[in-house]
Amino acid sequence: MEKKEFKSESKRLMDLMVHSIYTNKEIFLRELISNASDAIDKVYYKTLTDKDKNFNKDDYYIRIHPDKDNRTLTISDTGIGMTEKELEENLGIIAKSGSNDFKSEQEMEEGFDIIGKFGVGFYSSFMVSDKVEVETKSIDEEQAYLWVSEGADGYTIEPGELKSHGSKITLYIKENTEDNNYDEYLEPYHIQNLVEKYSNYIRYPIKMVTEKS
Ligand code: ADP
Ligand code: MG
Repeated sequence: MEKKEFKSESKRLMDLMVHSIYTNKEIFLRELISNASDAIDKVYYKTLTDKDKNFNKDDYYIRIHPDKDNRTLTISDTGIGMTEKELEENLGIIAKSGSNDFKSEQEMEEGFDIIGKFGVGFYSSFMVSDKVEVETKSIDEEQAYLWVSEGADGYTIEPGELKSHGSKITLYIKENTEDNNYDEYLEPYHIQNLVEKYSNYIRYPIKMVTEKS
């Protein structure tokens, strides 16, 4: 499969994330939950303008599944999803909002403050992951897609399996190092604390999947 390169600005941001010594790595969860919430908002707005569609509140939620055996943390939503083109545009290049204010070389070098100020969105997942998979199905397309990246060297896109619209972000959590306890991100109680700390304002239910349930 052909590996595609990130656009140059994204590449620099990605490098910053992968090699980040930024101590507040845990904010990645806030970023992914806010993306999931935005994606559900988009379905909601779509139903407001489309008389044939209803927004049934029970169908819209965010799911978090820490899986110690596989060392993965998965964040799923029943939001709008992305077409292949949107995957390419949204995750292959820097996003249009906050992180786009990240312009000059100098700002890049001062990047650690910028992380705190704007949030860097999706790419922050690489602060805690060796590999990230995004499986997504757009509300406007039949085919699902799977985006995979191990960091700054690029990403691949192939057909995915999802049958209903939404996205599923799977983080392959890094091994612990002397300075970083990444195992925490596989602990349900720790994830619960992070959700309460950063994502209290989210309007949709956030459901935790644990091994025993
Ligand atoms: P921002 O949220 O500030 O736009 P991000 O880096 O967090 O920047 O995300 C980039 C873009 O990727 C989003 O604007 C959105 O279009 C898309 N995206 C990210 N996560 C999801 C998701 N769970 N569902 C649908 N689209 C998503
Ligand atoms: Mg975001």
